[in-house]
Amino acid sequence: MTAYSFTHTPATPMPAEQREALLADPGFGDIFTEHMVSITWTREAGWHDAEVLPYGPIPMDPASSVLHYGQEIFEGLKAYRRADGSIVTFRPEANARRLNQSATRLALPEIPEDLFVQAVHELVTADRDWVPSGFDQSLYLRPFMIADESFLGVRAAQRARFMVIASPAGPYFSGGVKPVSIWLSQTLARAGHGGTGAAKCGGNYAASLAPQNEAAENGCQQVLFTDTATEDTIDELGGMNMFLVRADGTLLTPKLNGNILDGITRRSLIQLAKDRGHSVEERAVTVSEWRAGVADGSIIEAFACGTAAVITPIGQLKSTDFTIDFGDKAPGELTMSLREELTGIQTGAREDRHNWLDVI
Ligand code: PMP
Repeated sequence: MTAYSFTHTPATPMPAEQREALLADPGFGDIFTEHMVSITWTREAGWHDAEVLPYGPIPMDPASSVLHYGQEIFEGLKAYRRADGSIVTFRPEANARRLNQSATRLALPEIPEDLFVQAVHELVTADRDWVPSGFDQSLYLRPFMIADESFLGVRAAQRARFMVIASPAGPYFSGGVKPVSIWLSQTLARAGHGGTGAAKCGGNYAASLAPQNEAAENGCQQVLFTDTATEDTIDELGGMNMFLVRADGTLLTPKLNGNILDGITRRSLIQLAKDRGHSVEERAVTVSEWRAGVADGSIIEAFACGTAAVITPIGQLKSTDFTIDFGDKAPGELTMSLREELTGIQTGAREDRHNWLDVI
């Protein structure tokens, strides 16, 4: 791995008691650590000026292209503190690769994978004390890239900035894992063929917020998006991939069709399920198939997965036309045991047989 050189400007440290009080119940996405990483890119000079500096506002010209044309991409991964005090991240090189796939689609520059991983290391090392050690707690890391050239013409920007910020996170399910209700969005879409659905860009999330509001108005926590052509083929949820479990132990998950994110949790669960001898079908999966399978008993579990919640059981699917309750709403057996296995690997309770952990 190439070692890049970062300049370090330390922040004034927060008193330990104040930090510990914040870490006791950090919630999600509200609190930020003391430092951030910034690396500049220009078409002439490439990536340069790698810095670790105090967390704070960034200078931004009002004509910066990201503010007008939304040239922005991001990633999400977590650092975990293990029982022995060591800190690990989970498959960070997969996030680096995915950021670069998003960069290509959004006409942003690719960043060397080892520079991405080093940037994560630099920030976690500088803010080591901010990685919480409580049950199901972690340090959520948010790498992102913005186009910050001051120019109003519509073309790929000649200047960009890559940054990493970090936010301590509490357990996603504070009162134990609970099945969620999901809303089937029938009129509003987040992605279409040839669009940016497979990229992790801000615009996809902006497009998902009105359907998310619709979901909340209907008592649901998440939105299920289907293919715009069939309105039946399942793509994914607003921020998670999806799996169905058949009574014979087969897992079904929508194939990567260009509209959905290639989730790292999805990929890891496919591997863990195959290791246990389950067959996994990556193919077009439909809402009709799901409904029929629940009715005739051939589909027995459904769950969503992503970095934030790892695995979320799905208890109910609602739309303007129908509501289906999937059984007694207790989380399924395979759902919970895969969740336990993956979180066990991440926190050191189970063997990391695929070498997914990166020790910092
Ligand atoms: N789909 C979408 C749209 C997401 O935002 C996320 C969260 N990154 C996922 C799926 C799950 O991806 P991962 O497992 O890599 O977190």
